[in-house]
Amino acid sequence: MEWLRCNFCWVKVESQAQPFHLTQCGHIYCSKCVGKAIKRCFQCGTMDTIALPLKEPLSPQIEHYFQNSADLLDKVTSAQKFQEAQLTLCLQRGDAADAKYQALKEAYWKNNENLKKLNEKYTRLKMMVVAMQQEQKKKAAPARYTL
Ligand SMILES: [Zn+2]
Ligand SMILES: [Zn+2]
Repeated sequence: MEWLRCNFCWVKVESQAQPFHLTQCGHIYCSKCVGKAIKRCFQCGTMDTIALPLKEPLSPQIEHYFQNSADLLDKVTSAQKFQEAQLTLCLQRGDAADAKYQALKEAYWKNNENLKKLNEKYTRLKMMVVAMQQEQKKKAAPARYTL
């Protein structure tokens, strides 16, 4: 990386065998300057900071600092697409569940309506039966209860 230079003596990272260090305050120092820099950062003046050696494998927290930003953007874009697709699937499933619920609700009310009609029919039939029974009693009664 062209831009990777010690933030104090400005040597390139390739010029030293020892790894460069990244301070907590976000500054980079070569192995010769890092000792002083962690006591007081040459760039921002932060005192007693810590520094991570820049060697493979890089810690996941800082790995992206050194990746090509166009690649990172691709990663972010594909992550976004993936998450959107997943969300769409969840929403579609929600819609499907909703449609199923609506259908069940309609079927329930239809059944309820049918049951009501059946009940009315049954009540009418029962009343007819009762009326017929009374009619028969009336016919039979005079023979039995006259006197
Ligand atoms: Zn240096
Ligand atoms: Zn600093």
